[in-house]
Amino acid sequence: MGPMSQPTCPKESIVSEAPIQHVKPEGPMVDLMQGDARWQIPVHEHGFIALVDVMPRLVPQGQTADAAIVQAARVSYGAGTKQVSEDRTLVRYLLRHRHTTPFEMVELKFHVAMPMFVARQWIRHRTANVNEYSARYSIVPDRFYRPTVEGVRKQSTVNRQGGDEPIEAGTAEQFLTLLDKAEANYREYLSLTERGVARELARAALPVSVYTEWYWKCDLHNTLRFLSLRMESHAQQEIQDFARAMYRLIQPLAPATCEAFMDYDFESMHLSRLEIDSIRSGQPLGSQNKREQAEFEAKKTRLGL
Ligand SMILES: Cc1cc2nc3c(=O)[nH]c(=O)nc-3n(C[C@H](O)[C@H](O)[C@H](O)COP(=O)(O)OP(=O)(O)OC[C@H]3O[C@@H](n4cnc5c(N)ncnc54)[C@H](O)[C@@H]3O)c2cc1C
Repeated sequence: MGPMSQPTCPKESIVSEAPIQHVKPEGPMVDLMQGDARWQIPVHEHGFIALVDVMPRLVPQGQTADAAIVQAARVSYGAGTKQVSEDRTLVRYLLRHRHTTPFEMVELKFHVAMPMFVARQWIRHRTANVNEYSARYSIVPDRFYRPTVEGVRKQSTVNRQGGDEPIEAGTAEQFLTLLDKAEANYREYLSLTERGVARELARAALPVSVYTEWYWKCDLHNTLRFLSLRMESHAQQEIQDFARAMYRLIQPLAPATCEAFMDYDFESMHLSRLEIDSIRSGQPLGSQNKREQAEFEAKKTRLGL
C-alpha cells in the first residue's frame, strides 16, 4: 500500500451474515472452583501458590476437568468409543500411551510468590505464559527466604547439585548470620531509591533470597511435566515444596488424570535396555559407569530384586 492510499473495507461476502447460534448445555453446569476467587496454599514463611483460574471452569454437574480431556480425545477416536470406554479408562489409556494433546485442553492459572532462586529454576519451563512483578517499575517488597536452623542442609556428596541432611547447628547459625547481612542491604536499597537511584539498577544489591511474584498459566500436559521434574527428589527442596502444593491444587480438578500421572509417570520406573538384559540374564549390568550402576541397584531394590 502506498503512503497516500486509503485502507479498504473487506468485501461484504467475506463476513458471514449468519446469526450466532447460542447452544445451551444438555444439563446443569457447575463451577469447578465452587465460586471461589482463588485456592491458595502458603509455602514457607512468605510464599504462596494460588490457583486463580482453570479452563474448563464450568463443567457438567458431577464431572471434573477430566471431562474436557475425554471430550477432546473422542474427537479423534469417534463417538464409538463412548460405549466401550468409560472416562477414567480413556484418560488412563491416553496418559499411558503418551497421547498428550487432549491434556493440553485444560489450562491452569496460578499466582505464585517465591524466592528469586526458585523463580530462576521455574522459568526454565518454557511452555507456560508468565507475567512477573516488575522491579523496574515498583519497589521490591521486604521479604526474604530463610531456612530454619534445622533446614540448613549439608552439601550432598552423592549429588553434586543437591543438599541432604542438616548441617551441625553452629555452622547453620553462621549461615543465617550471613543471610542477615545480605538482607540488611534492603535498607540501603530503599534509601538509595528514595535518593533517586533507578529501581532497575538498585535491585542489583538485593540477594536471590528476595521474593518475586508472577502469574503462571500453563496447560495440564506441560504442568504435569513440570511436576514430574520438580516434585522429584533430585529437584531442590524449596521448588519441590511449591510443586507439591501445586499438585494438591490440581488433584481435585482432574482426579483421573492425576491418578494416572502418579501410576504411569511420577511413581513409575524406566528401565534401560541394559537393565532389562541384566535382569533377564542374571549377568552384571553391561556398563562400567559407576553412576549408572548405582541407579540400577536403586531400581532393583525398589523392585525387591
Ligand atoms: C533436577 C534438575 C536439575 C537441573 N539442572 C540444570 C542445570 O544445571 N543447568 C541448567 O541450565 N538447567 C538445569 N535444569 C533445567 C532443565 O535442563 C530444563 O531446562 C528444565 O527442567 C525444563 O525442562 P523442559 O525443557 O522439559 O521444560 P519446558 O521448557 O516446559 O518444555 C517442555 C517440553 O517442550 C518442548 N520444548 C519447549 N521449548 C522448546 C523449544 N524451544 N524447542 C523444542 N522443544 C521445546 C520440549 O520437548 C520440552 O521437553 C535442571 C532441571 C532439573 C529438574
